[in-house]
Amino acid sequence: MATGVIFLGPPGSGKGTQAEILAKLLDIPHISTGEILRSAIANSTPLGQKAKGYMDQGELVPNELILDMVRERLHDQDIQKGWILDGFPRSVSQATFLDELLGEINYAAPCVIDLEVPHDVLIDRLLKRGRQDDTEETIRRRLEVYHEQTEPVTDYYRRKGNLHIVDGNRGTNEVTQSLKDIVQN
Ligand code: AMP
Repeated sequence: MATGVIFLGPPGSGKGTQAEILAKLLDIPHISTGEILRSAIANSTPLGQKAKGYMDQGELVPNELILDMVRERLHDQDIQKGWILDGFPRSVSQATFLDELLGEINYAAPCVIDLEVPHDVLIDRLLKRGRQDDTEETIRRRLEVYHEQTEPVTDYYRRKGNLHIVDGNRGTNEVTQSLKDIVQN
């Protein structure tokens, strides 16, 4: 059966790393909305130009820029076998949009994974990562935005019954093993 996996978890939780590893293992596309936006910025597309200011501030890019992008990506042929979404949905409105979209493309309920990592470990990891939007100020803001807008998404999926909480404060291989156990069941 086709596997749809959603990675939740705050910035620095390792979801990008794990999503990439799992996508390779399962041979399905890794769809990172943050990566799509960074590549749009690098190519100076209209989307990139509009998104940049929000990303530099650690704010969410507005839905009007994100939703069509996700809809288009999930209509591509390569998602037939499955997909991994990393960085989407980031708000309850994005989660309800995704539900409707998955209905449109006849996809079964996704497997939702929340990677949990203590706050001080997140800050430490983000400061070491040194991505362009990883300044102390934007890190603080991104964690606030996560708390305000993305944490409610966890409750949304918990109520639906497809949420798996995974301890992300372990070595990469251990975390991957837990994810494999969840996804391959
Ligand atoms: P990420 O690579 O997932 O950490 O995303 C980097 C930045 O891209 C975020 O801080 C947001 O500004 C923006 N972004 C990525 N995904 C989304 C999304 N689903 N909704 C709104 N903004 C997003």
